[in-house]
Amino acid sequence: MKKKSILIPLLSAALLLSACTPSGGAGGTEAATTEALKTVQEPVSEEKGSQTESPKSTDQENETITPESESVTPEAPDNGSVTPEASEEETSEAPENGTESETFEDGHKPPVQFTLTGNRDDHFISEEFCYLEDEKFFLLVEPGADLPGDFAVNVGLIIDKLEEVSGLSYTIDTKLCGFDNSSVQLGYNPWEDMEYGYKVPVFIMIDEKANGYISSACAEWATIYMFELYSDEVWNAVPEYRDNPERRYDWINYYQIAHELTHTLTLRQASMTKIMTEGIADYYAEKAINALADVSPDFAGSVEIMSWNLDDHVKEDVTPENAEAVFRNDYSDLSHTDRGDEYTLGRMIGLFLEERYGKDFMKDYLKASQDAGYKYPTWYDLEEDDRNKLADEFKKLFGDDVFTDFGEYYQTHAYQL
Ligand SMILES: [Zn+2]
Repeated sequence: MKKKSILIPLLSAALLLSACTPSGGAGGTEAATTEALKTVQEPVSEEKGSQTESPKSTDQENETITPESESVTPEAPDNGSVTPEASEEETSEAPENGTESETFEDGHKPPVQFTLTGNRDDHFISEEFCYLEDEKFFLLVEPGADLPGDFAVNVGLIIDKLEEVSGLSYTIDTKLCGFDNSSVQLGYNPWEDMEYGYKVPVFIMIDEKANGYISSACAEWATIYMFELYSDEVWNAVPEYRDNPERRYDWINYYQIAHELTHTLTLRQASMTKIMTEGIADYYAEKAINALADVSPDFAGSVEIMSWNLDDHVKEDVTPENAEAVFRNDYSDLSHTDRGDEYTLGRMIGLFLEERYGKDFMKDYLKASQDAGYKYPTWYDLEEDDRNKLADEFKKLFGDDVFTDFGEYYQTHAYQL
C-alpha cells in the first residue's frame, strides 16, 4: 500500500478553526489555511488506512485533504441512545434529557448526550448531533454514524495505551487555546457551548456526499472519517459507496484512530517536523494497537491493516551520508500529492531511537523542543530555520552521530521491519 496522497480541495469545509498565535519563539510559520479554515497548525490529514482504501488492496492511494470538513447531515429525527443498562439490547428510544429541550436563539438544538452499552454487538445509530463524554475524550457524532457498543471503551483504551507507551499526557501545563468549531455549512455550530478542557474532542464525521474527506488531527482535536462507522442508511444512499462495498472494512480500523490520537498527544507538547509528526504517529499507533490486539476482532483487523504499511518504501534511499539532509529537509519539497515518505521514515526513526536511546526518547525530544521555543501552541509546516533548529536539538539529545548512525540503521533495516 502506498502512502501516496491526493489533495482534495476543501470544497465545503465546515469547521472554522480559530487561529491562536503561536507563543513559541520560532518565527511564526504559516499554518495551513484554506479559504474557510484557519488554525495554528495544519491539521494533519490522513493517510494510510484511509477510507478510500480497500482492505483487499495494497496499492491504493490515500487521499489527503487539509483540515476539517463536515457534511450537512440528513434528517435528524429522534435521538436513539443506548443506555449502559440496556446490555444486550440494540438502541433504545431517545431518552429526553435536559439539554434536548433547549434550543439556541436561531432555533437549533444542542447535541444530545448518548451512551453506549460496552457490548460490541450493540449498535448506536446517530440520528442527530450527539456527544458522549468519557474520562479523557468526547465523542462528537454527526447524524448517520453507526457505532458499536464498545466503541467508546476502545477509544479510551487507545488513549490510555498511547499515554503509556509514549510517556506523554494529553493534559499539559499550558491552557489549550481552544477552537471555534462553527459550522459554515449548517449556518450554526452544533457543538456550541461544549467545554472540552483537556479531553480530546473526537469528531465522528460522515462524508455523505463522497467528497473524499478523510481523517485529520491537530493538538486540539481529532476528526475521524471511516466508512465502517457509517450507518447502512447513509452508505446505501450514496452510489459511490453502495456500489463499492469492498471499500468498507468489516472491522473498525482502530489503527487510524490511534494514529490521529497520537497526533493530538504529541502536538499538545511541541511542534514537530512532518517526518516526526507522521512517523511517530504511526510508531505509537502501532505499539498501542499491537498491545490491544486481543481486545476484539476490530483490533485484530487493525493489526492486519498495519502490516500493509511495512511494504512501503521511501522514494529516495537514506544513507549515512544523506540522512541528516533528509531529516532537515523534511520532505518539504514534496507536494501534498506526493506525501507518504515521512510516515515510513519517521516510523523507522522511532524504532531506531527507542533502540538507541530508550523508551523516553520522544518525551525527552519534545521537552527539548519545548525548551527551544516550540512549545504548544504548535504548527506543522515548519520553515527551514525551524527545521534546522529542531534538527540541532535532535543531535544535542541523541548525539552528533545520530543521523549517520540512523543512515546505517536504515540501510540494514529498511523494508525488513
Ligand atoms: Zn497523520
